[in-house]
Amino acid sequence: MIVPRSVKTTCPYCGVGCGIVADVASDGGVSINGDTEHPANYGRLCSKGSALAETIGLDGRLLYPEVGGARADWETALDLVAARFSETIRRYGPDAVAFYVSGQLLTEDYYVANKLMKGFIGSANIDTNSRLCMASSVAGHRRAFGSDTVPGCYEDLELADLVVLVGSNLAWCHPVLYQRIVVAKEKRPELKVALIDPRRTTSADIADIHLSIRPDGDVALFLGLLRHLASNSTIDADYIARYATGFEQALAAAQALDRDALIRRIGVPHSQLEEFYDLFAVTERTVTVYSQGVNQSSSGTDKVNAIINCHLATGRVGKPGMGPFSVTGQPNAMGGREVGGLANMLAAHMTIEDANDRDCVHRFWRAPTIATKPGLKAVDMFRAVGDGRIKALWIMATNPVVSMPEAENVRQAIASCPFVVVSDVTADTDTAKLAHVLLPALAWGEKSGTVTNSERRISRQRSFLRAPGSARPDWWIVTEVAKRMGHAEAFAYSAPADIFAEHAALSAFENIGTRSFDIGAYANLDSRAYEELEPFQWPCRVNSPGTARMFAEGGFYTQDRRARFVPVRLTAEERTTSDFPLTLNTGRVRDHWHTMTRTGKSQRLSQHYAEPFVEIHLEDAKRFRITDADLVRISTGLDAILVRALVTPRQQPGSIFVPMHWNDQFASCARVDRLVPGMTDPISGQPASKNVPARIERFHAA
Ligand code: SF4
Repeated sequence: MIVPRSVKTTCPYCGVGCGIVADVASDGGVSINGDTEHPANYGRLCSKGSALAETIGLDGRLLYPEVGGARADWETALDLVAARFSETIRRYGPDAVAFYVSGQLLTEDYYVANKLMKGFIGSANIDTNSRLCMASSVAGHRRAFGSDTVPGCYEDLELADLVVLVGSNLAWCHPVLYQRIVVAKEKRPELKVALIDPRRTTSADIADIHLSIRPDGDVALFLGLLRHLASNSTIDADYIARYATGFEQALAAAQALDRDALIRRIGVPHSQLEEFYDLFAVTERTVTVYSQGVNQSSSGTDKVNAIINCHLATGRVGKPGMGPFSVTGQPNAMGGREVGGLANMLAAHMTIEDANDRDCVHRFWRAPTIATKPGLKAVDMFRAVGDGRIKALWIMATNPVVSMPEAENVRQAIASCPFVVVSDVTADTDTAKLAHVLLPALAWGEKSGTVTNSERRISRQRSFLRAPGSARPDWWIVTEVAKRMGHAEAFAYSAPADIFAEHAALSAFENIGTRSFDIGAYANLDSRAYEELEPFQWPCRVNSPGTARMFAEGGFYTQDRRARFVPVRLTAEERTTSDFPLTLNTGRVRDHWHTMTRTGKSQRLSQHYAEPFVEIHLEDAKRFRITDADLVRISTGLDAILVRALVTPRQQPGSIFVPMHWNDQFASCARVDRLVPGMTDPISGQPASKNVPARIERFHAA
């Protein structure tokens, strides 16, 4: 007998973090609606969110632990994982093991995995698939603000008079935020939208200006904007003098560049550029939204700082309708950042390089050790698996064989690793097939915890479905292994509420306002308060209701509490050659998510694009003798794939676009990350997957 109920939770897809009401009927049927009271979406949902009920069946679910391909009980599987990790550490040291985790994990799962690796194993070899998504924004924030902090909130997109979308197809990748702008624009036609993207994406439908810049032309564009602002006296000298340092150096770096070379690098007509620069200069209420087109670049961190420099220069930070705004890809990329899910961070946004931070976390956890140096970032981590430095690997809730660059190398690396554990909801992923031990995790709708969205808002995910088979929460799986590795006391949690309270207490531990991430108001919450937790924005110190905006009046998290302008220079980005004359850009489609392990279950979602494709401009199609719907072969220096040609004027000549979703389960010939080399941003370690030299040719079956 099922008791009908209505449960408030959040969407498991993108970083907008929409609130959802899940209604469970007495026959077990589930209906999904937007939560009208959740401040991220006020009841709206996009196509993916509204199709969630179609994706929660048990088809393909991993329901029991497996060891060596055979069903096992939890005791056997957990004992084996703990024993093999302990033995590897004993023989080869703590850096011989690694965790690769995911923005799909809940904050509590992330927290315990990070605690085990950094405080109890003593290595920082834990990195996350969020490295592929927003690491450049983290690094850019830290350089400019002294902390990884998004200054504004979603309401700013509605209050702005100019929304600049850079490298962000918000219409498809963060659809509810896009809908909020559409509605705001209908109410206030004076709200202008500028789209900066080589492709004419669906987001161009609301754009007043579209600058189809050359791939990686963004740094040049914002250097040019800084020069323009300075030469047109639209600099906020008072804000700069009071709250920032380094303006002269940043401006000098921008002014040192040859103007014509700068314009060539940007690649749009001068008149169009001037129109955008003038609009930015005269529009005080400006928000610049950026996403993967900025982050996934070998100059991603510089792009972020070039954008932030322009906002600092005009004093447009953290005020209503103003600010730089990085939107995260995954539902809990932000939560992972809070607990130190990146290999170069500690919990509560503290840093491994800082001895005081290390000491603080070490003592708070009463840990036997603490990692003393940053661990391996994602690309380097899988290379270390491949060359044998890492001998035991635990992958949680992600599918790196499909999503990592140099994906075929990653497959071979994992296949060669002496001991691989995968905890996930399914055994059907390309990665899970390589595991020695498979651990069944709870899926969305079954698990409970918290997530943080792109505006720093922490919300509950609540369970409304019974746990199937013997699947368990990720936090439970990690803590059971930790206990078996000899750390029972430090991992004696009975529920996610215990973990969240500890996470909140650590954020406020010995904190005298020197940490932006502080949720000390929740350090003593009990399980009932946790169950009833309403969405709130950090920082949320004791006696505070949370914080919508930050830094309008300085208070940055640098030593002198001032922001830093970062002098940004142009680097060589021209990569095409006569052999590989096109630029390959990878990204998302509207109705699929990541490697389709969930959205692939919905027929409705698969109708938008039924098969993998490459978008190619008409001129290039003609040049390479390709017609619409031809099967084509795309190759780079690494590998080749086969996809269907989609000839379209939306694509920029010289550049092609392939979606990243299709995997071996759906279309083995089309796994595009096989083509992407592991080239990374030197500061953030984020892979560059938007500007890969490639070749295209019509496919002729032998
Ligand atoms: Fe889910 Fe993002 Fe769509 Fe909201 S916008 S319903 S969070 S996928």
